[in-house]
Amino acid sequence: SIHARIQKHLDQYPFISPKAAQVGTANATFLMLARNSEIEDVLHTLRQIETSFNHRFHYPYVFLNDVQFTPEFIARTTSAISSSASYGVVPTEHWNHPPEIDEERLQRGMKELADKGVDYGGSLPYRNMCRFNSGFFYRHELLQNYRYYWRIEPEVDFFCQIHDDPFQFMQDNNKIYGFTITLYEFEATIPTLWQATKEFTQLYPELLAESNALDFLSDDKGATYNLCHFWSNFEIADMNFWRSDTYRKFFDFLDAKGGFYYERWGDAPVHSIAAALFAPKEQLHFFNEIGYRHGTLQHCPQGEVFTKGQCQCSRRRNFDYDGYSCKPRYDRLFEQH
Ligand code: GDP
Ligand code: MN
Repeated sequence: SIHARIQKHLDQYPFISPKAAQVGTANATFLMLARNSEIEDVLHTLRQIETSFNHRFHYPYVFLNDVQFTPEFIARTTSAISSSASYGVVPTEHWNHPPEIDEERLQRGMKELADKGVDYGGSLPYRNMCRFNSGFFYRHELLQNYRYYWRIEPEVDFFCQIHDDPFQFMQDNNKIYGFTITLYEFEATIPTLWQATKEFTQLYPELLAESNALDFLSDDKGATYNLCHFWSNFEIADMNFWRSDTYRKFFDFLDAKGGFYYERWGDAPVHSIAAALFAPKEQLHFFNEIGYRHGTLQHCPQGEVFTKGQCQCSRRRNFDYDGYSCKPRYDRLFEQH
């Protein structure tokens, strides 16, 4: 009987929910970096992504953490999903700052940004996280067998039914980077990032893609950065791009500058600059049909897309053409001149 079956599961620890066979056929996984303390918010996100998409496709999950996940975290997240999950620890050399970082300069940089009231300005773990997400996550052993990932974070919403497989879309259309929200970065966190980028492209001009998206990043042909970037708490992307020699060179160059620590370079501007410069703009993609909220910002599809997706967001609350959105600049990349 059903009661006997439930009792049998309850007798096991950790409780493992029965897993459905994978339906989606792309070589892809969800990826979440999280802390044990975030379990409630993690479960919120898992319910959102399962309800809107993964209960049909059953793509696996990879959970990463700088310390071991607790049995409680593993049991509860495993119960929340319709597919399998693996749980990994980030190697310390991929998380903590390298020995070349000057401790005094680091402390000075953190204090300066904290005094300016910049979010996470004085946080060392946040810097570790940004550097890890910029240059290391795709080297983790649990991700080696995957090509595409969908980055998810604790406490986000997915408002719509996602009928078509975004991973399959990426593969079929040769896309390398997909996003839902694009906005301006806080300049105080990246005062020298563009200078470093220009030095890099002057050293290796051959690495620039022919039809790149420089005009998305700069209003003066590259002289200055307009601070536009894709919000990386949501990403669907092709790890072959991050694993390429080009990106490896770029990351190593930036890492050697120390800006992840002396300043507070985010993985969002770093990923965005690379995707915009080193891939043709046709390989970028705005996932209009994926209604999404992180923090106070959300993308809510409009018109037929809202209806088709049975979206639950308020259409009046949509960041696409907010004054702080970079979406108009992105759109202009694809207008005929
Ligand atoms: P925000 O979105 O920029 O406000 O930053 P979050 O606090 O959401 O962090 C971004 C992602 O990194 C989330 O998935 C967090 O769970 C994760 N994260 C941030 N700091 C740490 C940390 O120190 N340890 C672990 N394990 N995860 C972290
Ligand atoms: Mn977040």
